[in-house]
Amino acid sequence: MTTAIIVGGGMAGVACASELADHDVNVTLIDRNNYTQFQPLLYQVASSQLPAEDVARPLATAFAGQDRVAVVTAEITGIDAATRTVTTPDGPVTADYLVIAAGSQANFFGVPGAAEHAFPLYTVQDARRLRRHLRDRLRVLCDPAGDGAPYTVVICGGGPTGVETAGALAELFGALKEQGTLHGEATVRLVDHGHALLKPFTDKTHEYALAKLTEKGVQVTFGVAVSAVGADTATLSDGTTVATDTVIWAGGISGPAIAATTGIALGHGGRIDVAADLTVPGLTGVYAVGDVANIPDTENGADGHPLPQLGSVALQAGKWAGKNIVAEVRGDGVTPFHYHDKGIMAMIGRNAAVSEIGKHRHHLEGPLAFVAWLGLHAVLLSGIHSQVDAFLNWADDYFHHDRAADLELADKVGRIAWADDEADVPNL
Ligand SMILES: Cc1cc2nc3c(=O)[nH]c(=O)nc-3n(C[C@H](O)[C@H](O)[C@H](O)COP(=O)(O)OP(=O)(O)OC[C@H]3O[C@@H](n4cnc5c(N)ncnc54)[C@H](O)[C@@H]3O)c2cc1C
Repeated sequence: MTTAIIVGGGMAGVACASELADHDVNVTLIDRNNYTQFQPLLYQVASSQLPAEDVARPLATAFAGQDRVAVVTAEITGIDAATRTVTTPDGPVTADYLVIAAGSQANFFGVPGAAEHAFPLYTVQDARRLRRHLRDRLRVLCDPAGDGAPYTVVICGGGPTGVETAGALAELFGALKEQGTLHGEATVRLVDHGHALLKPFTDKTHEYALAKLTEKGVQVTFGVAVSAVGADTATLSDGTTVATDTVIWAGGISGPAIAATTGIALGHGGRIDVAADLTVPGLTGVYAVGDVANIPDTENGADGHPLPQLGSVALQAGKWAGKNIVAEVRGDGVTPFHYHDKGIMAMIGRNAAVSEIGKHRHHLEGPLAFVAWLGLHAVLLSGIHSQVDAFLNWADDYFHHDRAADLELADKVGRIAWADDEADVPNL
């Protein structure tokens, strides 16, 4: 029986494991966490709109009934790609095929103090840490006996993570203010060294995102970067200092630390360059997929520029790598990855979604964009969850009703109505 090791149980790793297991390949799926996480909803966890348990699912549950997938929870300390050997504290394991799907990590670009003091938003643990911090700060601000000192959240980076988080927090602060619960000034300030929000989108979306965030009270500054982060300050590249203990780092990602142990010369962003068929050139039986990989976009005469680090790329590439391995096992030829580009989307807040549909980026905003966002996220979620309708109901309610002040603070946090089977609740 053919064997495969998959490094990483995120969207790409899970999709690959499912494909292989359906075709008689014995899979060992290794992740440091015993759950898979759904990153697109992390800001909902950070802003207390969802509990962390709702955006993670135990890998054992996701593969229940799949005898061909052995889920191993362990920190991978080294990968020897040439021999397809993966080392964990329990020792080395080798297989016929190795699929590296280890995701990304926050890139602090060497900014002093950022790794120590800023809040990245890449994992469920990051989201919980930020949520606890915000909750503590808001409890002080909501205390009538508090000192009423102004509170500023600085968000570094105007990409989708920065914009979505800024929108969610501004709504939260606005709702608390409206309720009369907030006894001090709370401000969201977003800085970006470029000159547009949601840079990969078109100009129309740049303007829409800026207008929506401004409407919600977010202060947006372009042409400025965060140059240092302290425990109680953020220093900006224009020389100003902001008093804050809350710098949210949405400034970029790079390949994960484990990629550097593989013996593969890393490409742009510390990621693994792969061929069009998702194999790592020069090695036998080694694939890299998802965020960890620079996957060339070779469709329709595209120049081979890497595809973006997106859930849909990860999901489709994971599945495709699985299909190619099965084809290899059968002695058939492998095929170049064909990415079905459904578009790019962001939710800036209630009633303020924006979508650019398909390869030609047809612009939609408001409720129609929300429907597109919903459809895409349901597809992404379906890779790990069977009860996608529970997500659809929750999201519909979130988008259309003002739940911004339903804070953990008031023990009223909303939930996706997953089945709540005990086995389905991750051990976070
Ligand atoms: C805040 C946020 C919002 C996003 N929103 C969207 C969106 O709206 N739409 C969209 O399409 N995409 C979105 N993305 C991007 C999308 O989530 C990623 O592209 C996708 O999750 C990548 O999947 P992956 O499987 O490659 O990596 P991941 O999902 O990151 O999985 C990698 C796995 O590898 C494991 N791992 C890494 N190193 C080790 C090690 N040494 N030992 C053991 N395990 C290890 C990790 O624990 C992790 O589980 C968002 C990302 C973020 C961070």
